[in-house]
Amino acid sequence: MKFRTGYTKARWVALAAATLLVASACGDAGSDDSETGEYEVAESPEFEEGSRMAELADQGSIKIGVKYDQPGIGFRGAGQDAPTGIDPELGKIIAGQLGIGPDDIEWVETISDNREPFLENGTVDLVIASYSITDERLEIVGQAGPYYVTGQSLMVAADDDSINGPDDLEGKTVCSVRGSTSIDTVEQEYGAEPAGFDTYSECNDQLINGSVDAVTTDGAILLGYAAENPDELKVVGEPFSEERYGVGYSPDAPEMCEFLNETIQSSFDDGDFETAFDLTLGKSGNEMPEEPALDPCAA
Ligand code: GLU
Repeated sequence: MKFRTGYTKARWVALAAATLLVASACGDAGSDDSETGEYEVAESPEFEEGSRMAELADQGSIKIGVKYDQPGIGFRGAGQDAPTGIDPELGKIIAGQLGIGPDDIEWVETISDNREPFLENGTVDLVIASYSITDERLEIVGQAGPYYVTGQSLMVAADDDSINGPDDLEGKTVCSVRGSTSIDTVEQEYGAEPAGFDTYSECNDQLINGSVDAVTTDGAILLGYAAENPDELKVVGEPFSEERYGVGYSPDAPEMCEFLNETIQSSFDDGDFETAFDLTLGKSGNEMPEEPALDPCAA
């Protein structure tokens, strides 16, 4: 694969626009700023002819699926021009290596349940949406990475002392999202009564209004919600699964894997990933983790 890294550099500076967010009526307000990092946009990157990377670079635009309701990870509030969070930041890093600047990224909201279909039917070119790499998903789509590792956790009302870990969930109503790894684990392994919704912000609202006893998903997601409602919500217990976030790509473009892995690895090495992390997840109490070793691409 020809992946030229020695190109002339064009740097863009995205304005750290302090966007006044209008909190949504249902209480799932996002982070209160829309700061973004400064990443390289390759001037004339070269890719093997016919590859998906070459197509995207020629086209000069890319469609990226991210979450819109997960503060710190992928969030787009009323009045925000573009989503914020570690996932959109990584999207900008990747697009930059294709020669595509942030204004030419078309952001598409994905929820957990439509990530595979969106990649299969071309609604998006990439999914970067708290998307754990799993064997089941790899049967359907490509996933490069991981770029971040978190673990499933629990969030309860701040004044609830009855749930301190997954072993306390037997018979409790636990909200999670259809099409996620989280809902399967809690139902199959811990005997909880699952309440399945489309988005975690709906679960967040259910917990705040007392309709469910707990919300479960990745700690990184829950910390974002708890940070926004510290008087009402808290994250409890130790993580009880390993969620390795990958970048999803079309099953028809296996050549994307090496490119994505190289781009993720260079963002670790040149500090771009850390910049992205500090501006996003780092603000809701998450520690910058040790950068994970990337899975090799299938031969
Ligand atoms: N990372 C887990 C998953 O991919 C849970 C978070 C989510 O649903 O996005 O299913």
